[in-house]
Amino acid sequence: MNFVNYYMPTKILLEEDVILNNSNLFHTYGDKALIVTGKTSSIVNGSLKDVTKALDKEGILYDVFNDVEENPSLETVENIAKLGISQKSNFMIGIGGGSPIDASKAAGVLINNPIATRYNLFNSPELKSLPVIAIPTTAGTGTETTPYSIVTDNELQTKHGICQKVFPEIALLDVKYLMFLPEKITINTSIDALSHLIEGYLSSKSNIMSDALAEKGLKLFGECLIMIREKDFNCLVREKLMLASTIAGMVIAQSGTSLPHRMGYALTYFHNIPHGKANGIFLKSYLEFCEDKNKVRKILYLLTLENLDELGNFINNILGYVDSVNYKDICSYADQVFLNKIKLKNHPTPVTREDILKIYNDSLKI
Ligand code: NAP
Ligand code: FE
Repeated sequence: MNFVNYYMPTKILLEEDVILNNSNLFHTYGDKALIVTGKTSSIVNGSLKDVTKALDKEGILYDVFNDVEENPSLETVENIAKLGISQKSNFMIGIGGGSPIDASKAAGVLINNPIATRYNLFNSPELKSLPVIAIPTTAGTGTETTPYSIVTDNELQTKHGICQKVFPEIALLDVKYLMFLPEKITINTSIDALSHLIEGYLSSKSNIMSDALAEKGLKLFGECLIMIREKDFNCLVREKLMLASTIAGMVIAQSGTSLPHRMGYALTYFHNIPHGKANGIFLKSYLEFCEDKNKVRKILYLLTLENLDELGNFINNILGYVDSVNYKDICSYADQVFLNKIKLKNHPTPVTREDILKIYNDSLKI
């Protein structure tokens, strides 16, 4: 049996009105919060209002940074940090999709270490972040239960994770904030969660604990498959997808992601393809490439699918194709992916540049 190394310190609370019911918890982390969120969705879905109401009730002061873009840049992280340092914030509340929550984790490191720069985010793993409270309003990234923060580095023209491990202290989950998540975002983000479950389950770092979680997450996703295909997102489906996403975060917190995620970064950076779609497009070819056929069969079984063609059809039907990429592009992207030995190590067997190129080619049908 594989050596088991399982660590996931985030307290998870899922209930109706979770923020207002648990406002007393905020006191544990300080008396000055910095709320980090996107431009509009947290106002529209009511999560921002619930947080400020809870903080007012507890007499905790706060500032709001509400300008986090999708795939947050290092410049945005630095702007959040400037605000937090000037306002002497002592804990972070990230509300939104993965972008604001990830930005709050990275900015929390810079605020807690005011002389640190963006260089330290990739070179000083010992730095600690301020405490982070995560309130996810998409069901996809699972960042509320992972230690990762993925940022866009415009100098290197790619996305990559900071080197500090920042598990949120608490994840507050309430499906009411997701009820009006647009269809496209619901689909793209659900496929991100599916990619986490699949990549985590097949990872060289998977173990009995992460596998048990991945299997439960895949089963939950399988129960939603027909409704996703029919774009019928009722409350129960949304709640199952939210749970599957949070569980998928717990899986990749142990095992990391591997090829589809690393390969998707170029599609997002250079072709503006949303994160979930950018990974999901590779899943069928990736599973064809994987040698552990027992696990591949188990994935299909849990998803209630007969074979990989059915998975490919499901994904293409809901995500559509990517047609803006040419052969010269994928040669250059394959070179970049091949250089990232850490992600390659998460795949259980040796991977060549030609393997990566083939997955790009087969998935994008160039
Ligand atoms: P996102 O980039 O955070 O948000 C996408 C869009 O959804 C934004 O326009 C946002 O609007 C909107 N939105 C969010 N919640 C909404 C709601 N409840 N109703 C309506 N609209 C809503 O999307 P995401 O897919 O969740 O996050 C992607 C990021 O997470 C990427 O940078 C990815 O690399 C990262 N990621 C991180 C991890 C990790 O472990 N840390 C894992 C996977 C992915 P507003 O801008 O107005 O809020
Ligand atoms: Fe992801």
